[in-house]
Amino acid sequence: MAEAGDNVRVRGRVSFALWIFAMMLAVAALAGLAAVLFPGRPLAIWLTGIAAAVVFSGVARWRLRPELRQLEQAIQVLPEFDPDSASLPRMSELADSVQALHGTSQRLKKRLSRAQEDRLQLEALLDSMQDAVVAVDAAGRIQWTNHTMQRLIPGSSVQSPVRVGHALVQTVRDPEVLECVKTALAERVVCERRTTTLLPGRIFEVNASPMPGGGAVAVLHDITRIEQVERTQRDFVANVSHELRTPLTSITGYVETLLDHETLSPVAEEFLSTILKNATRMNRLTEDLLTMARVESPEAEMRPKPVRADVLVQDAVEAMRGLVRDEEAELETGATTAAEVMADTDSMMQVLGNLIENGIKYGRARNAAKSRVVISAREVSGSNGDGVGAVEFSVRDFGQGIASEHLGRIFERFYRVDKARSRESGGTGLGLAIARHMVESQGGTIRAESELNAGSNFLVTLPRAR
Ligand code: ADP
Repeated sequence: MAEAGDNVRVRGRVSFALWIFAMMLAVAALAGLAAVLFPGRPLAIWLTGIAAAVVFSGVARWRLRPELRQLEQAIQVLPEFDPDSASLPRMSELADSVQALHGTSQRLKKRLSRAQEDRLQLEALLDSMQDAVVAVDAAGRIQWTNHTMQRLIPGSSVQSPVRVGHALVQTVRDPEVLECVKTALAERVVCERRTTTLLPGRIFEVNASPMPGGGAVAVLHDITRIEQVERTQRDFVANVSHELRTPLTSITGYVETLLDHETLSPVAEEFLSTILKNATRMNRLTEDLLTMARVESPEAEMRPKPVRADVLVQDAVEAMRGLVRDEEAELETGATTAAEVMADTDSMMQVLGNLIENGIKYGRARNAAKSRVVISAREVSGSNGDGVGAVEFSVRDFGQGIASEHLGRIFERFYRVDKARSRESGGTGLGLAIARHMVESQGGTIRAESELNAGSNFLVTLPRAR
């Protein structure tokens, strides 16, 4: 529909219908003339009429053709069509078409300028971002980059910017960025990595996502400062814990000596026992804090290698059996599998050990004399769909269980369902947080299932070795 202000006047209008009418009159007149000139010869009259009609239809075609060509030219230049400068058809029958064309060109112009404005706004927004953004096509050629990215690319500047059309690999040499973009392009999945080699002394988080129409977009987030702050905090916690170790060992040693060798009054013995208990707790806390700082550090190296799942279970059970008194708990090995998983053996021993210890501490049923903990492992299909599969380790107890509102939070640092009970049993609230870190840095997952008064089941899934 034409909008207000869209009206255009077609200059020097001529009616094509009038033309046809005039030509038909001319044909009739020629036929009449032939009748006068060749009386009694109808064939001659007919032939004159037909010849005149053929000539006039040719003339009509010749008259119509430039008008239609002008219309065609006007359509071709849309939306730039300008009725004032363009040569327009002069026939009144085509006036509506010209009018409609003008309206369409006006609307197209408006839409295009709106789209252009939106694009500029989006570009300005992306340019104002602190993160570097680069979009590549399906072949890995740069389509667009924002200013931050241009500043990162060596040798480019805002004045001599974008290397659009160049392969990303010619512009960005960082292997992590290139690998991440390659994964997003080839596997159509979001890829996240961390790189320390893009710029000297800087650390970036790389996030590459596939774009719906093919190609991918990579976002590089500078996390140098965040990592510095985290490192300072980690170092502080580790240093404090380390400094506390020596005095705590000394307190524990002296108290143990006093308790062993002195003849003490019952009150003094009770006080010394309390001091020993708390010093031991503090010792565990400092040890757990040191472990936490170690596993959270990006330099912490996991060395996953193929190891049989049943061997891991067996070793963990044996190690814990040595620390548990028979009257305290019953450790059982359930069904296991000989499948190999990719695991850092030391860390997995620590994770399973921690879960078994929790099972012993919290896994005693209400009327039972001792806890019962069953450790098993089974093959499951892998979650990343690569067909390699995984192994799920299970540490199950039959104790009080964990209420559903706590289940999602028990892997947080210092989160304890029952603070008093945890403290009583020497807990620090860090065991599951450490376990989660260790499992995730080996490419695995950890979760808990539980039913109140029926027990808990902690499930650790690790990828199978290829
Ligand atoms: P803690 O040192 O206190 O045991 P954890 O991080 O190992 O710390 O566990 C966090 C909390 O989760 C515990 O305080 C306890 O409340 C709960 N929890 C862990 N394992 C079990 C379990 N097997 N049964 C019931 N509750 C558990």
